Amino acid sequence: MALQYFTYPFKTMGISQSYTGSYSHEKYSTGNRKDYPIDEAGSDTGRDYMYAPVDLVVEKIYGRGSSRQPNTVWLQTKNKVITPIGVCYVCGRATHMSDADIRNLKVGHVFKAGAKMFREYVDGGATGNHIHMTWGTGKYKSPGWKANNKGAYVLITTGSNKKPEQIFFRDKAFTKKVRSTQGLDFKTKPSKKTMYVSTGKSRLNVRKSYSTTSAVVGKLKNGTKVTVYCTRGNWCCIGANMWVHKKYLKAK
Ligand SMILES: [Zn+2]
Repeated sequence: MALQYFTYPFKTMGISQSYTGSYSHEKYSTGNRKDYPIDEAGSDTGRDYMYAPVDLVVEKIYGRGSSRQPNTVWLQTKNKVITPIGVCYVCGRATHMSDADIRNLKVGHVFKAGAKMFREYVDGGATGNHIHMTWGTGKYKSPGWKANNKGAYVLITTGSNKKPEQIFFRDKAFTKKVRSTQGLDFKTKPSKKTMYVSTGKSRLNVRKSYSTTSAVVGKLKNGTKVTVYCTRGNWCCIGANMWVHKKYLKAK
């Protein structure tokens, strides 16, 4: 099964507040239990769509029909995906879309990769149209959020909360415009490369992560063809929890 890259879900990047933002996000990113939300306001003051970068499963819907409770949708990747920090499940929540945009949405629905999901809005009392979103590794864990010591409802998953630039690549063919980043630097989505194991008579250790202290999960013979999905330092990711050192791969 080909792995999907987890890429930024808006066509125009217009981040209006980073996770360090003093306007409303500090209490999330500096509390005891943290998450790293960003506000995405798209191309202008209008209402851009948030797209599914990969197949995403709807895990929970909160606030629909209430003007006080901000509409929130929890989304989890259907499969493990490629992120800048490796291959894993990703789970997050998006907030402030309108009732109308999620009127018929059901828990269990799968947004296929590339599908329009919902648009920015102000549901729950936001000051301008945007989507507040926050992400982590792992799968959905009920009830999806929990108040931290500063009273902010931070994401909970079976994994851990991550900064958006650790979770998303930017696909320049999709997110063509960058209006504002608030200082966040997203890696460009890499292209897959076919490589061959080059170890002579010995076999190449495949490790669970990008370190020689990480567990060996398999061995590959000289000449084996592999797909390199992304790299991290000197390490190449060739599948879910499968990393090899780049000095033992060659292009031909
Ligand atoms: Zn926000």
